[in-house]
Amino acid sequence: MERTLLLIKPDGLQRGLAGRILTRFEEKGLKLIGLKLMMLSPELAAKHYAPHVERPFYPGLVKYMTSAPILAAVLEAPRVIDTMRTLMGATFGWKAEPGTIRGDFSNSTAYNLVHGSDSPENAEREIALFFNADELHSADRSIDTWLVSEDDQ
Ligand code: UDP
Ligand code: MG
Repeated sequence: MERTLLLIKPDGLQRGLAGRILTRFEEKGLKLIGLKLMMLSPELAAKHYAPHVERPFYPGLVKYMTSAPILAAVLEAPRVIDTMRTLMGATFGWKAEPGTIRGDFSNSTAYNLVHGSDSPENAEREIALFFNADELHSADRSIDTWLVSEDDQ
């Protein structure tokens, strides 16, 4: 079982797409185990995006991410990191495939609605930045036995 961090970025909330975005992940069967509406502080943004600190887009990225509320969530499922990034689509909205969240709703390079962790190491690091262990609640659901087969690889 794997966990990943989802951020619905400021444009997602400002454009009223937060519910639709969460629904895409819920419909796929990914289990929502943590959820928080918050303003991202410059300090937390710097920690979260530390791997990008040398990139030319970094100052603009921090400004964008701290400009309005975000929704932070943790999702749990087998292979959830890959599954979530597939549903999100490619980084640039104008390039992302139709049918993906970014492909359907973003036409921007920077304003691409969602963040998703890209590896198990980053997922663990990022989840710990946004959530305490006692803020995550992974309860069994009766539907879980219908989402993946015992024979799945
Ligand atoms: N970004 C940007 N310009 C770029 C590349 C990235 O503004 O040329 C922003 C964009 O919002 C992206 C974030 O920086 O989501 C982090 O970039 P990353 O390469 O990690 O893309 P992601 O993992 O979000 O697809
Ligand atoms: Mg990334």
